[in-house]
Amino acid sequence: MKKIKTQQIIEVVKTMCIEANCILGEDIVAALTKTLTLEKSPMGKEIIKQLIENSRIAKEEKMPLCQDTGFTVIFLEIGQEVQIMGGDLDQAINEGVRQGYQEGCLRKSIVSDPFRRKNTGDNTPAVIHTTIVPGDRLKIVVAPKGAGSENMSEIRMLLPSEGLKGVENFVVDRVNRSGGNPCPPIIVGVGIGGTFEKCALLAKQALLRPLGTRNTDPFYADLEKNLLKKINNLGIGPMGLGGQITALEVFVDAHPCHIASLPVAVNIQCHSARHKEAIL
Ligand code: SF4
Repeated sequence: MKKIKTQQIIEVVKTMCIEANCILGEDIVAALTKTLTLEKSPMGKEIIKQLIENSRIAKEEKMPLCQDTGFTVIFLEIGQEVQIMGGDLDQAINEGVRQGYQEGCLRKSIVSDPFRRKNTGDNTPAVIHTTIVPGDRLKIVVAPKGAGSENMSEIRMLLPSEGLKGVENFVVDRVNRSGGNPCPPIIVGVGIGGTFEKCALLAKQALLRPLGTRNTDPFYADLEKNLLKKINNLGIGPMGLGGQITALEVFVDAHPCHIASLPVAVNIQCHSARHKEAIL
């Protein structure tokens, strides 16, 4: 049995909250740089250059990439042979978030109740998704999620007879209706199958995939490519001001589903696609 102290978890989560908010992943910077040769709109090109410059300044000066430092979404994979020592795991995660947002001078964006709307003052509670897996490792992913793109996300319970065409139409229409609101170029996470809540989780987890990768199932890999092409043909462009590059990537993940269901979720991620991973 591997023993992991809650203090270690607090420290790691604190550091990842700061790093995730200040350092854009190399895959995203590389994808943005690549689009400079593809984007034909002068305004679109200029915006992409500014996004790349923004990521450089944020990294060098340890400043947040964006004023919206997000809802802290945490994915935990806990090995069956791991024992957490020294306190409550969820409390340790939240303490790490609290310290990270405080030390990193990151905006606190969480209100304690959807109607009474009093700011909790420390960006807690985090949304924590936990999976038990074989082995003796604890994997922690910190993924701050801004509201601008999250608000453009949607679930539909399609009829199975609506099929692939129904899914494609829904995803492309969802992006089209979003326009410039989610700060394009975006990454589109699509979850298909499972139940109402499962497809939403699939869509969110799909956003964690490194840019440039494809679903290992050729059927879904083709769907990803087709959706990306259709979305970029919409002409929304960087920051919604027109152009060829509306999305950097579309990631689709699927799950077995009920004979009478075809659930589809679209989780939209802005260009400030922040996530960090640690393994203890
Ligand atoms: S959508 Fe993303 S880039 Fe735009 S304001 Fe929100 S977090 Fe920032």
